[in-house]
Amino acid sequence: MTKTYSNLIDGELVTTAGTMDVINPATEEVVGQVPSAGQDELDRAVAAARRAFQSWKKTTPEERQKVVQGIAATIKENADELFRLLTSEQGKPHNQAQQEIYGAAGLAAAQSTLRLEDVINQDDDTRLSRTRRVPVGVVGGIVPWNFPIMMAIQKIVPALVAGCTIVLKPSPFTPLTTLRIAELIKDVVPAGTVNIITGPDELGPMITSHPGIDKITFTGSTATGKKIMEGASKDLKRITLELGGNDASIVLADADVEKVAEQLFWSSFSNAGQVCIAAKRIYIHEDIYDDLSKAIAAYAKTVKVGDGAQQGTGVGPIQNKKQFERVCELIQDAKDQGYQFLTGGDVDPSGTGYYVPITILDNPPEDARIVAEEQFGPVMPLMKFASVDEAIERANASEYGLAGAVWTADAEQGVAVAERMETGTVWVNEFMHLSPFAPFGGHKQSGIGAEYGIDGLKEFTYPQVITIKRDAFA
Ligand code: NAD
Repeated sequence: MTKTYSNLIDGELVTTAGTMDVINPATEEVVGQVPSAGQDELDRAVAAARRAFQSWKKTTPEERQKVVQGIAATIKENADELFRLLTSEQGKPHNQAQQEIYGAAGLAAAQSTLRLEDVINQDDDTRLSRTRRVPVGVVGGIVPWNFPIMMAIQKIVPALVAGCTIVLKPSPFTPLTTLRIAELIKDVVPAGTVNIITGPDELGPMITSHPGIDKITFTGSTATGKKIMEGASKDLKRITLELGGNDASIVLADADVEKVAEQLFWSSFSNAGQVCIAAKRIYIHEDIYDDLSKAIAAYAKTVKVGDGAQQGTGVGPIQNKKQFERVCELIQDAKDQGYQFLTGGDVDPSGTGYYVPITILDNPPEDARIVAEEQFGPVMPLMKFASVDEAIERANASEYGLAGAVWTADAEQGVAVAERMETGTVWVNEFMHLSPFAPFGGHKQSGIGAEYGIDGLKEFTYPQVITIKRDAFA
């Protein structure tokens, strides 16, 4: 018997008449049922969030910090149960699910300390002018399936810290762990401040166009991001969009092949490549191309693809059938075009579970679909370049601008290259590191606005300037 989970609305765990099945991508078995919420449930959640906002916005930063720390502690205390549940619905290996759960708890604890201080604009005999940050109101949070818990927490926490309340919609593919957290935090958060409702994709546009919601914070694909921007334009809702990426890594000629091979591998294949900030194009200087591509392919052969719940699995299945079919299509296209594979490429579509073997392509052309499109799967094209200028030009020739990396023995040179990359984040000699205190956001079609840090927190507020004319009655 699989468990039926509940939504959290106004501090109560509630169900709906209809439910949706959630599938384990490793076994294709149903692992749980969740409510299929529609307009009625959304209206109730928004009404609860509006009521709760009236008192929550008056709380002190310290009171809000205490509640958010309660969320962090609850997740941490239940990490064991939560990471196993996460693997069963998302597919990622246990160690990566563990990192996500502890990472989310750590993010919540760290961001609970963020404060938006007043700014004095003018203070003289004529005027006192002060900017204060005012919470926008009720936030609609919409989350994807690749990091369901991290993404949920990075929306819930800054909303609460800023003084907003939230209605959050997980992806229909990965709602279970979020709803389990909802059960666990039911009595940790004041009723109505955090509402979590599950439903099909159609619930998304209902949130975007709901007149009782003041701001949308969304993580997901660029295609959906554009629809959200359109929907939110009707009443000019504030939006933060974290969208797709086709991140480039540039490996300079002086990089240490042995040291970087394994890291480059994981920069692409962690979470089976389903990471917005995964390296999706790797440009390697021609002097080290042969050695490094061989070293990466050799390392790839040591990594086990399988059920994330089994010990020793490094790369799990693709999270859902639709994405599995898309990745298979990209691999088939590469085969049809006659591109060379260093490893992988043979998918068995008839097997149980959405498994794609680790696939590495050997120097496909720049206009190959596997290079030009976000693969979002365990597929990585390695490409050769001759000059740094050429590598930067190719890396920047993308409609995306999320993140990128430079690998080199010379940090100064690495920074010089990083500064020429047109992305919101660039790492030198590492990958995927995000600080709770630094803004994370995409340039070009990778997004609008930022999450994390003070910049991220500000997006849940609007600036109000209060000016006193001091000499008015002098
Ligand atoms: P998606 O856009 O298909 O879905 C994301 C969420 O939007 C889901 O909850 C879905 O139900 C909802 N949704 C679908 N249609 C909607 C609509 N018309 N209006 C409102 N909501 C709607 O994305 P996905 O396939 O779940 O996630 C993968 C994508 O997310 C990739 O492109 C990846 O790069 C991106 N992503 C970006 C970041 C980032 O921080 N920039 C992080 C993770 C994932």
